[in-house]
Amino acid sequence: MPTILTHAVVPLMLGGALGRRVISRRLLAAGAVAAMLPDADVLAFKFHVAYADSFGHRGATHSMMFALLLAVAAALWHRRLNTTPWRAAGFVGLAALSHPLLDACTNGGLGVALWWPFSDARWFAAFRPIAVSPIGARFFSERGWHVLQSEFCWVWLPTAIIAAGIVAWRWTSKRT
Ligand SMILES: [Zn+2]
Repeated sequence: MPTILTHAVVPLMLGGALGRRVISRRLLAAGAVAAMLPDADVLAFKFHVAYADSFGHRGATHSMMFALLLAVAAALWHRRLNTTPWRAAGFVGLAALSHPLLDACTNGGLGVALWWPFSDARWFAAFRPIAVSPIGARFFSERGWHVLQSEFCWVWLPTAIIAAGIVAWRWTSKRT
């Protein structure tokens, strides 16, 4: 996984750039949670579930099905999120899906079970520039520093550029 906070950064920056009228504050928070939630599966290690198992790390919670379930849940709770059902489903679903897609771009561990429950195959992207984060919070090592640099370069920076583009687009369209 990229570091858990890096997963949250993606929906926070992009949703924040869209503005509060499009993405309510609660929806933004829900998106951040949805982007981090798949890694709750590291608990599986505690229960001695093997990494490669469907319910091991990067298994079922890293699938399109899981993102879809979160999207449906968000649509059901759209009133609490101060938004419409479609917007809730779209934002939360995409935030959840961004997680396995980023994991699939890391250079270590196993791939993600994107097609679960139809297939248990673990999938990696063709381009994997992101240094894999060590499991557990050993960030204050040299490797941790290397991971943060890599995430900054391949996740934070591109996301910030897209977010800046969204803000610029909103700004110009408001003036015309
Ligand atoms: Zn993950």
